[in-house]
Amino acid sequence: MKRGFLTILLFFLIGSAWFAGSLNTEHRAEPRPTVESLRPMIQFGRTHYALSSKTRPWIEAELLSDPLSISPVPASIEVTYSKKGKTIWHSTIENESILPIPEQDGMTEIKVSLLYPNQNSPMESRFIVAPRRDVDFHLNQDTFAPGELVLIRAEYLEVGQELTASGNWFVSDPQWFYQNGVGMLLYPIPSSTKDGSYQLTLAAENERAILIPITVTPRNFVMQPLIIDPNINATTRTDNSYEEFHNMLLKSRTVTEALPLFAEGFILPVDGRMTTEYGQGRTINGVPSGSRHSGYDLAAPTGTPIKATQAGMIRFAGELILTGNTVVVEHGMGIFSQYYHMDDLAVEAGELVQQGEIIGTVGTTGFSTGPHLHFCIYVNGAYVDPVVFLTESPLGFLQLLPQ
Ligand SMILES: [Zn+2]
Repeated sequence: MKRGFLTILLFFLIGSAWFAGSLNTEHRAEPRPTVESLRPMIQFGRTHYALSSKTRPWIEAELLSDPLSISPVPASIEVTYSKKGKTIWHSTIENESILPIPEQDGMTEIKVSLLYPNQNSPMESRFIVAPRRDVDFHLNQDTFAPGELVLIRAEYLEVGQELTASGNWFVSDPQWFYQNGVGMLLYPIPSSTKDGSYQLTLAAENERAILIPITVTPRNFVMQPLIIDPNINATTRTDNSYEEFHNMLLKSRTVTEALPLFAEGFILPVDGRMTTEYGQGRTINGVPSGSRHSGYDLAAPTGTPIKATQAGMIRFAGELILTGNTVVVEHGMGIFSQYYHMDDLAVEAGELVQQGEIIGTVGTTGFSTGPHLHFCIYVNGAYVDPVVFLTESPLGFLQLLPQ
């Protein structure tokens, strides 16, 4: 205990000396450095972190045998320790900078609000302390139907530790999202996946990869014969129209917000009659189309308003040869909803929309046999069955912390 105290004192002194030194070099041109230019540090044993309003380091408590200290000593520290969102300790400390060691069991979130003399507003920071351990992966389930999503939550990541995933049913480079030491992935089982046993390989940087067996169950998609005006078919399904469509998708789906722009489940954009379901194959004027239907076709009268299925950012709104008047909405975390064959467009690229906001009206533009909305959801390289998002929000499983 005494040794611990001396160590803290020593580190505090070193920290203060270092701090003073850094001020001297960085602010040589300023004769009187203001308090605003101070950069408080938090020290855990031998490790120290610069604190700012944006700092959210992930700190391994296993290495820490000494209490936490903050330098320079603030006039007051308002501090809260919490676990799983519940406050376990809260205090305001004056003219003192040593905080108690967090419990070495699971993650402890520490929020500090530091007030320095001559500074009007406190400096807020939040960080997480947890024992060092291998990354833990959790899956929503181990048996999936084509069109469903494998949801993966990885816990106990170190700062900057990268994750990778690959499944032998689907070749793609899925994008992980990170928040406060947790990694999250939405990895699709495309509609074309044959039933059988597959393997998911998950790896955290500097750790051994783990293999998880995945079962894909059979799903029968009914073939649908489609008869369309041969002129529409000949003019809308051409090399040019497909190229234009794919170029649009490439451009509009490159940018994605790291975290979701929504919390709740998605809604059906139109209350119409389902004329083609997700995954159905088709013959077009007797010729197999060779692809599966990427979403829902919802028949409704021309002019019926179309709602945004979820809050998001409009990434494309315009006319294409293949899909007519088209809208692509990005919802964060690599999730996109797409709307085709619209009559009117009510939005423009770059706009933010709320769930239920009108984005246009039902029509029959592009490759279409009559007024309907084609609605589909794309995640990490494949179209998934919209029902995955309509029933409940997949984010419940991922347990995202509030921002
Ligand atoms: Zn369709």
